Amino acid sequence: MSLIVQKYGGTSVANTERIANVAKRVIRFRQEGHDVVVVVSALSGETNRLIELAKEITETPDKREMDVLLSTGEQVTIALLAMTFKEAGQEAVSYTGNQVRITTDDSYGKARIVSIDKENIQADLKQGKVVVVAGFQGVDETGNITTLGRGGSDTTAVALAAALKAEECQIYTDVDGVYTTDPRIVSNARKLDKITFEEMLELASLGSKVLQIRSVEFAGKYKVPLRVLSSFEDSGEGTLITVEDNKMEDAVIAGIAFSRDEAQITLTGVPDTPGVAYKILGPVADANIEVDMIVQNIGDDGTTDFTFTVHRDEYKRATAIMSDTAKRLGAAAHSGDNTIVKVSLVGVGMRSHAGIASKMFEALGQEGINIIMISTSEIKISVVIDEKYLELAVRTLHDAFELEKAA
Ligand code: ADP
Ligand code: ASP
Ligand code: MG
Repeated sequence: MSLIVQKYGGTSVANTERIANVAKRVIRFRQEGHDVVVVVSALSGETNRLIELAKEITETPDKREMDVLLSTGEQVTIALLAMTFKEAGQEAVSYTGNQVRITTDDSYGKARIVSIDKENIQADLKQGKVVVVAGFQGVDETGNITTLGRGGSDTTAVALAAALKAEECQIYTDVDGVYTTDPRIVSNARKLDKITFEEMLELASLGSKVLQIRSVEFAGKYKVPLRVLSSFEDSGEGTLITVEDNKMEDAVIAGIAFSRDEAQITLTGVPDTPGVAYKILGPVADANIEVDMIVQNIGDDGTTDFTFTVHRDEYKRATAIMSDTAKRLGAAAHSGDNTIVKVSLVGVGMRSHAGIASKMFEALGQEGINIIMISTSEIKISVVIDEKYLELAVRTLHDAFELEKAA
C-alpha cells in the first residue's frame, strides 16, 4: 500500500460542508488502495481572526502566548474532520503537533521542524485509520507550543511526507496548480504542469504565497514529490514540483512573483570610509531585522548614498534605527518609503539566455514604470517599483514574455 500525505488549506476546510468534501476525497483514495495522512489548516480566516483578537489586547503580544493562541485554529479543524470520517464509517484519529510529536526549535512564530515521531502514525495507518494532523504547529524541547509561520501547514505536510517516506505530498488549495503568476492578478496566467524545486523556491521566496518557502526547501532536500492541486475540482494533475529535466529548460521564464511587503530606507551623504556599510547595517542586524536588497552609490565629494530594503512590518523599527545611525555617522539626510513593491522574473532558463534583463527593463519603461532598484541572481531578476504600478507591471511582463503560451 502506498502512502500519500494530503494537505488542505483554509478555504478548502472553510465550513463543515467543505470538510465533508475533503473526507469524501480522502475516502476515495483509501478505496483506491492508498494510506492517507491528512494535514489541515485552520478554517478560512480563523488565523487572521485570532491575530486581531490578540491585537485588541496589545500591539506586541507575548510570543509564546501568541503561538498557544494561533495553534487553536488547526485543532478545531482536525477534530471536525476526524468526526466527519467516523460519521462516514471511516476510522480516523486526530493529532495536534504536540500529540504526534512534531518537535521544533524554540523560535515562536517561525519555528523550524527538528524531528517527527512517526511510530504512532505508522501504527494507526496499519490499523486502517486515516491520520489527521494539525498543520502549522509543533512543540519545542521543553513542551512549549510553537507555530511555523504563516502558510506553515504546507511545511507540516511536506515534513510528514519526508519522515514517512510518502509516495507523494499533495497540497490541495483553491487554485488547480502553480501558475505563471498569481491568477488573481493576471487572468490569462497559465497553469504549469511541472516546475523545478529551484524555481518554486525562488518564486515562494520572492512572494508567491501558493506554497510556504520552507515546504519547498524540505521537498527539495528530501526529494519529496510535491504536487499542488485544486480541492474544488476533481480532474487534473495539478502542478508537480520536481527536479529539472531537459524539457523544462525550454521555458526561459517559469513565472513572475511579487511582494507587497517591501519598504526602503536611504541614507544620503554618508562619509565614504571603510566599514561604513557595517556601521549602517550592523545595528539593523542587531535588531534582528532582515535586509533584502542593498544599493550603494559613490558620490564625487567623498560621500556615499546607501539604500536598503526591509519587510514592511519592520519599516518603523528600521527607520528609528536609521535616525540614530544618520546622526552618528554625520549623514546629510535619511529618508524612507513604505509604498514600494518587488516584482521578479524567475526561470532556470535564464542561465543560458542573455537579454532577459534588458527586455524586462524595456517593457517596464514603455509603460512609464520607473525602476527604483534592481537585483539579479542566476535564475531571477527583481525590480523594486512604486506600489501603484504593481498590477500593471506584472501584466506587462506576463505579456512581454508571452507567458500565457506554453514553451
Ligand atoms: P491555502 O489556504 O490553501 O494554503 P493560499 O492562499 O496559501 O491557499 O495559496 C493559494 C493562493 O496562492 C491562490 O489563491 C493564489 O491567489 C495565490 N498564488 C500566488 N501566486 C500564485 C501562483 N503563481 N500560482 C497559483 N497561485 C498563486
Ligand atoms: N493557519 C495558518 C495560516 O493561516 C497556517 C496555514 O494555513 O498554513 O497561516
Ligand atoms: Mg497557504
